[in-house]
Amino acid sequence: MLITGRCHCGNIAFDLEWRGDPAAIPARACSCSFCVKHGGVWTSNPASALAVTVRDPALVSKYAFGTRTATFHVCARCGAVPLVTCEIADRLHAVVNVNALEKVDPARLLRAAASFEGEDVASRLERRQRNWIADVRIAEGGGKGETGGVRESGDPR
Ligand SMILES: [Zn+2]
Repeated sequence: MLITGRCHCGNIAFDLEWRGDPAAIPARACSCSFCVKHGGVWTSNPASALAVTVRDPALVSKYAFGTRTATFHVCARCGAVPLVTCEIADRLHAVVNVNALEKVDPARLLRAAASFEGEDVASRLERRQRNWIADVRIAEGGGKGETGGVRESGDPR
C-alpha cells in the first residue's frame, strides 16, 4: 500500500511504501514535551520504505532536544512536522506523523498513547532500530521547473 503525506504547504512530502495492506495503522501519540506541544502522532513499519522530497531545504528547520538522538523536520513555512529521523549504525531511520498523511481513512488509525519516559539512550535506539522505518531516502531540491536535478542524501544533517 502506498501512503502519501506532506506538510501543509507541500515543501516536505513523502511516499511511504507500506508492505501489505494493513487493516490498522498504528498511531502513537507521543508524550514527549515537544510532541505534546505540536500534537505529534507517529507511525512506522520496519518493513516499509520511505522516500521524502524536500523542495526547499532552506525552509526546513531541524530540531533536536533532550538526548538529541532524533531530529524533527519542521517545515519553516507552514509549521507542520511530517517526520522525525534518527541515525542508528550509519543508517537513517524515520517515523512519519499521521497528521501529515493524505487520503488515509481515519478509522484505519489505531490510536494509542505512547510514553518512552525513563528509557535510557541505548534501549531507545534499540527500539527505534526494531520499529522505525529503516529504508529512508531524502531528496532535496529539484523543485518544479528547476534544472538542477535532485540531490539524494541519506543524511539530513
Ligand atoms: Zn510546509
